[in-house]
Amino acid sequence: MKKKILSFILLFTILLVSLPTYAMELPGGYLKYGSRGSRVEEVQRALNKIGYQIHEDGIYGKRTRASILDLQRKYNRLSMDGIYGSNTRRVIEKIMTGQDLSSLDKVEEDKTSEKIKPTSGKIAYLTFDDGPSTTVTPEILDILNEYDIRATFFVLGTMAKENPDILKRIQEEGHSIGNHTYSHKYDYLYRNMDNFLGELNKTDNILRSILGENFKTSLLRFPGGSFENYKQKYKDRAEGLGYRVYDWNALNGDSESSGASVESLIARLKETSRGQKDLVVLMHDTYGKENTAKALPSIIDYLKAEGYSFGKLEE
Ligand SMILES: [Zn+2]
Repeated sequence: MKKKILSFILLFTILLVSLPTYAMELPGGYLKYGSRGSRVEEVQRALNKIGYQIHEDGIYGKRTRASILDLQRKYNRLSMDGIYGSNTRRVIEKIMTGQDLSSLDKVEEDKTSEKIKPTSGKIAYLTFDDGPSTTVTPEILDILNEYDIRATFFVLGTMAKENPDILKRIQEEGHSIGNHTYSHKYDYLYRNMDNFLGELNKTDNILRSILGENFKTSLLRFPGGSFENYKQKYKDRAEGLGYRVYDWNALNGDSESSGASVESLIARLKETSRGQKDLVVLMHDTYGKENTAKALPSIIDYLKAEGYSFGKLEE
């Protein structure tokens, strides 16, 4: 009996200790398609409040996603926020606390375009994250070659280590390579400064070990983007070390739902790029993003027809 009580106390203590850690592991509660839990329910309730009809099932599925995208469309530039970034969250939090909705059109300006050198024509910077992979990256490289376009690859240390030859090919074919951290694990990366800087360093070392000691890149993309306030300290530190942090101001939506169709990727690119002079386009070249390669020729054709030329971010 005593043993039973003791084990209960132990279990209770473990629960108490692990709860705040779990909360810490979800800084800002970045939601993705397929996420489950009470935060999703909260979002669904907020959306219901402003007229969307969503069943509060706590699963970030099709209908919740469609409503979020619709909400983002109504408030200019929210779509740059990915599926549920800081600006979208701010809007939803305002709705939930019953604040005046007319103040909602004011959304924090996206700073991506300020970072790009002013040019006379329209330029699209295509960027590919989370690779290199054996199934998507080579396809993308072939297409870029056909069109004679240089792009930017924000690679993961883990993936570079797995596919060094593809990384070399990216470099040999004249594209830019940037650091996208080692593990891409938000809970680990953004837990403290040591973890964050350690991952940048580890990835830089891997890139050098594959591409040669003289390889150097100052390009950095934060996993999940650097939009959220809690990431500011990491951004300041990285910039202090000489990194240039790039988010995006257009996307094809290949990270917003798994297995998005080619048509929907093209549609999302059109929708998020509309009306912008310079574009930094977020796409992915990792496993499961095979449709990104399939949609790429149409996306390039569309951008060309819209008068864009193409550039790479300078390492
Ligand atoms: Zn990523």
